[in-house]
Amino acid sequence: MNKCSTVYWFRQDLRLVDNAALTHALEMEDLILPLYIYETGTSRPWGATSKWWLHHSLKSLKNDLGSLCLKRGNPVQILTDLVENTGVKHMVWAKRYDPFGQQTDAQVKAHLTTLGVTCHEMPSGLLHEPGETLNQSGKPFQVFTPYWRACRSRLNLKAPLARPDNLTLSLPPSDRLEDWKLLPSKPDWAESFHHMWKPGEIGAQERLNQFINHGLKGYGTRRNIPSDSGTSGLSPHLHWGEMSPRYIFHAIQNACLHNPDLSSDAEVFLSELGWREFSYDCLARFPELKDKSLRLAFEQFPWQENSSHLEAWQCGKTGYPIVDAGMRQLWKMGWMHNRVRMIVASFLTKHLLIPWQKGEQWFWDTLVDADEASNAMGWQWVAGCGVDAAPYFRIFNPVLQGEKFDPQGHYVRQWIPELKGLPDAYIHQPWKAPPMILGASGITLGKNYPHPIVDHATCRDRALQAYKQMNDS
Ligand SMILES: Cc1cc2nc3c(=O)[nH]c(=O)nc-3n(C[C@H](O)[C@H](O)[C@H](O)COP(=O)(O)OP(=O)(O)OC[C@H]3O[C@@H](n4cnc5c(N)ncnc54)[C@H](O)[C@@H]3O)c2cc1C
Repeated sequence: MNKCSTVYWFRQDLRLVDNAALTHALEMEDLILPLYIYETGTSRPWGATSKWWLHHSLKSLKNDLGSLCLKRGNPVQILTDLVENTGVKHMVWAKRYDPFGQQTDAQVKAHLTTLGVTCHEMPSGLLHEPGETLNQSGKPFQVFTPYWRACRSRLNLKAPLARPDNLTLSLPPSDRLEDWKLLPSKPDWAESFHHMWKPGEIGAQERLNQFINHGLKGYGTRRNIPSDSGTSGLSPHLHWGEMSPRYIFHAIQNACLHNPDLSSDAEVFLSELGWREFSYDCLARFPELKDKSLRLAFEQFPWQENSSHLEAWQCGKTGYPIVDAGMRQLWKMGWMHNRVRMIVASFLTKHLLIPWQKGEQWFWDTLVDADEASNAMGWQWVAGCGVDAAPYFRIFNPVLQGEKFDPQGHYVRQWIPELKGLPDAYIHQPWKAPPMILGASGITLGKNYPHPIVDHATCRDRALQAYKQMNDS
């Protein structure tokens, strides 16, 4: 092994293109040691679906690099061993923004400094550093629209960096990725994921090209239709840092230069990237975002624990087709359309009165894009207890939401094949279908599709009552 004094520590920046920290490391030294640590003892281990993605993303990165040193354990210990065994003098990494990761990085830095190692940390993964965008009184924005307007007006991003071409790597003994057992087996519930996803930088580039060529036009309206593949599907690639938001931003702007008709859809799309930024801004201010309601009054909310309702929701067996279709899409794809995420989250927190944290935890375990900032923000937004949240009393009616966003029931039929034969008029409320129609469609409620587990009108009243009780207390 060649002697190497610089380690590049990959974390949620599993890419070579537009990776400022990696480029910085290569400017310091031609020969670097590329490292990924599967961290144990973290406050929140990766969910099962995230592990699936991580396995494939690391495999892809290793392929692209030629080699990658893999280690599993406590980063302070692993890096100390590396320094002692290889004489490393510099550590370079891209900043991460989750509270536990930041705490770990501070510990690593403090410890390595005592060993004479210099640590270089570079911003990465966001368009703005959290906390940088302030209102005219110098305070953080509480509302998204003015926040994004302020960010957008001063967005002047440098061109993305090319893939470094001078990669020479040093490699100490590495773990075998397979030995980490990140993939499910017996049963392999992720079998269908391969048809939908290609983790890694090449997969991210293909998604982006596909979106620019076929999804961007009309995105502003198509993004609300769950049966339409009208959104980018870039969320897991962004989460794992397989593509930078700056790279996406430039690609979208270039597409608009060639075709100015795309501009208004492009602005809507960029504002969605803005929500991601806003979520990280909130996480920086409220490190307990995933655990605690930002509106403190919600600490008094009369939530109810009901394990059979929670299980029906998780399994897609609530009897409300749009909710069940979303939860089944999640099982099959490890992903769910944004509109349906809002509907299922509203159903859990308002119809079932189950604490939003239970939903956040389920999504953490099952989404390929599970992200501490965006997930907690999404849940708090729907539950009505977050920053710039939807008011609690706005309770989605799952039948009307289905009729509005899936009028012909394409989405429901795709994910709940047992309802395939139902006419459009009943696809979002099978319990209203006359027995003859149910029979002709091959449906026996309670046998091959559930009766609704709760009644919408009763739940709506109960939720409003609970909200009143909270406000009165
Ligand atoms: C209850 C709930 C939980 C959610 N959990 C997550 C999560 O764990 N991880 C996650 O990335 N997103 C989460 N979202 C936001 C959103 O649903 C997904 O980002 C989006 O569906 C991803 O699909 P896409 O890449 O096709 O999005 P596109 O419509 O193509 O949007 C482009 C990108 O913008 C970002 N984005 C879009 N909408 C939002 C949003 N509302 N908040 C933050 N960023 C957004 C994503 O990075 C996305 O890839 C959640 C939303 C809700 C309501």
